[in-house]
Amino acid sequence: MGRATEDCVVTDRSLPPGLHPETLAVRQAQPRSPWGEHCEALYMTSSFIQPDCETAARRFAAQEEGYTYSRTSNPTVASFEQRLAAMEGTECAVATSTGMSAILLVALTALKAGDHIVASQSMFGSTIKLLGSEMARFGVETTFVPQTDAAAWQAAIRPNTRLLFAETPTNPLTDLCDIQALADIAHNHGALLVVDNSFATPILQRPAQFGADIVVHSGTKFLDGQGRVMIGAVCGRIDPVDKVMGTFLRSGGLNAAPYNAWTAMKGLETLALRVKAQSAAALELATWLEAHPNVARVYYPGLKSHPQHELAMRQQNGMGGAVLAFDVKAGANASAQELRQRAFHVIDSTRVCSLTANLGDVKTTIVHPASTSHGRLTEEQRQAAGIGQGLVRMSVGLEHIEDLKADLLRGLDSLQ
Ligand SMILES: *Cc1c(COP(=O)(O)O)cnc(C)c1O
Repeated sequence: MGRATEDCVVTDRSLPPGLHPETLAVRQAQPRSPWGEHCEALYMTSSFIQPDCETAARRFAAQEEGYTYSRTSNPTVASFEQRLAAMEGTECAVATSTGMSAILLVALTALKAGDHIVASQSMFGSTIKLLGSEMARFGVETTFVPQTDAAAWQAAIRPNTRLLFAETPTNPLTDLCDIQALADIAHNHGALLVVDNSFATPILQRPAQFGADIVVHSGTKFLDGQGRVMIGAVCGRIDPVDKVMGTFLRSGGLNAAPYNAWTAMKGLETLALRVKAQSAAALELATWLEAHPNVARVYYPGLKSHPQHELAMRQQNGMGGAVLAFDVKAGANASAQELRQRAFHVIDSTRVCSLTANLGDVKTTIVHPASTSHGRLTEEQRQAAGIGQGLVRMSVGLEHIEDLKADLLRGLDSLQ
């Protein structure tokens, strides 16, 4: 028979305070069954057996801790939540089925009919659709402002503004916003600042440190990092994140599946290594692309040519991240159609990179935003977001850098 954990535990093994994110990523939240497993167990069960009726009654009435049903809570999901919260430096986190359900959860709990949102106009396509169109049917209005212009955020505030919603850096143009400045604007008006940290991850930036009230994640991207599962999370203070949002999540059924939480939790263990290596490779690739004659412009916060390079270095722990974008060069009078063909040629000529809209993966991905991730926007919205037909976006993975350069050269060197 196996030894129970009590036999193994001879000293206080609870974690000491003050640990770094890298340590928390592999050590925070390790509940152990009596078997003392080293790797976190996966509790893939929809419900939990109750020891007796009296205990069941207390647990269902929330008078006693204990698991009942996985929509309400699950130990594997709870471990992922605790580990991510520790890395973000927030009091708590709640896990959701996807990144979009995390954003929906925030919108449905922090807002009511008649409320107003100020949001960046260059956020993730589905976020713009959700906040700008879907929420309008419930009487919530959103004003979209230029990402980088703090004065425009300030000017858009109304008495009924409840949320400021930012994503930094943005997809695909890597525009930043100054989190501290937006937090000050929000708090001066009694509003909450929400920051989508899917791109930066807590390895590059911890928005709560700069005053963000709520941090949302698409864990589908870097947190998993290997393209296996969809998951999301909302991080922040116990009140409102656990009390209000957690309660709604349990009734609304937006919760994460145990398998997905387990997979993303194992992803957190290698997050720091991956993000640092992918960020270093992206910087090298961006620098190299900037010198290519068939590239008109490179968008990457790690480059000195990025208009917000200094803010990026300050806010993002000295790193640019794994995502970059570039415009292919065309003649001065090139039509949108010509630009599109040139971008298609570069992308279709790659044989190592994956043509997929996903990002944050250890496999490098390449995509044409105007016809995929941002294809649902109207031409007007796309123009406002600055996403042209010649734009190519890459999320740099862990392949050898020379193989990636050769993959891009196939198309870049053969442009007519
Ligand atoms: C992908 C993404 C989302 C949506 O996440 P899903 O897990 O696909 O629902 C939200 N925000 C950003 C910045 C993203 O990249």
